Amino acid sequence: MLSDEDKPRLKEVIDMMVWAEIPDEEKNLELNLKVLKHMIHGPCGDPSQRYPCTGDDGKCSKDFPKDFCEETNANVNGYPMYQRRNFGKKYIVRGKEVDNRWVVPYSSYLIMKYD
Ligand SMILES: [Zn+2]
Repeated sequence: MLSDEDKPRLKEVIDMMVWAEIPDEEKNLELNLKVLKHMIHGPCGDPSQRYPCTGDDGKCSKDFPKDFCEETNANVNGYPMYQRRNFGKKYIVRGKEVDNRWVVPYSSYLIMKYD
C-alpha cells in the first residue's frame, strides 16, 4: 500500500507503475509467462463451481472480465481505470480463454523481482 501523498495521480505516472495488459511474448517472453502464471483472474463466473468471487447470479464480485480500455483514465470514481487494449489476441490459462480483460493490475518491476 502507498501512503496517500505517494499515490500516483497522473495518467503518465500510473502508466509507468501499473500495467493491466498481457505483454507481447515476442517482446518480453519472461514477463509474458509470469503475467499469465500469476496475474490472470479466474476462472470464475460459473455459480455451480463455488468460486470465491462468484455469486449465485454468476457475477464476479471483483468485476472481471473488465472492459477493454484504449488508454488509462486516472480517475473514474476515485480509482484509475487502467489501459487494457483489445489486440484480438487470446491465451489459454487454466483451461480458459483469456485476454487483457482478465489481467489483475501489476507492477512489472515487482513481478520480475519476486516472480
Ligand atoms: Zn471473478
